[in-house]
Amino acid sequence: MITSIDHLGIAVKSLDEAVPLYEKALGLRCLGREEVAAQKVRTAFFDAGGVHLELLEPTSPESTIAKFIADRGEGIHHVAFRTDDIGAQLKQASGAGVRLIHEQPFEGAAGKLVAFLHPKSTRGVLTEFCAVKPGATSAH
Ligand code: ZN
Repeated sequence: MITSIDHLGIAVKSLDEAVPLYEKALGLRCLGREEVAAQKVRTAFFDAGGVHLELLEPTSPESTIAKFIADRGEGIHHVAFRTDDIGAQLKQASGAGVRLIHEQPFEGAAGKLVAFLHPKSTRGVLTEFCAVKPGATSAH
């Protein structure tokens, strides 16, 4: 079951430029930064009333974020829904005819389990499911 929107992923060219913008223009506080080597991104998290903003900066031209920025420019990259059962969520989406990017969840930023649905089958919105790993007590 989806319990909330967990975060919005926002593709940016530079965290060093984007983080101060969110801090100064919106008055949000950066909760921390993390590099996710497997995804070739650096992330910075903000809290906006329980929904996080996840700024994503590519660390390599091979990163999907670099390709996204090259194709579409900076901007909203994905919407992440928190779920209490990521496996069941994937099964439901797949059963509804949605193409999955990941058949199995993998470990994303902040130690969460994540999996993505293909934007071509979700009306152009890259959709992420995320779940707190059993036993984890992440603040993100
Ligand atoms: Zn995400």
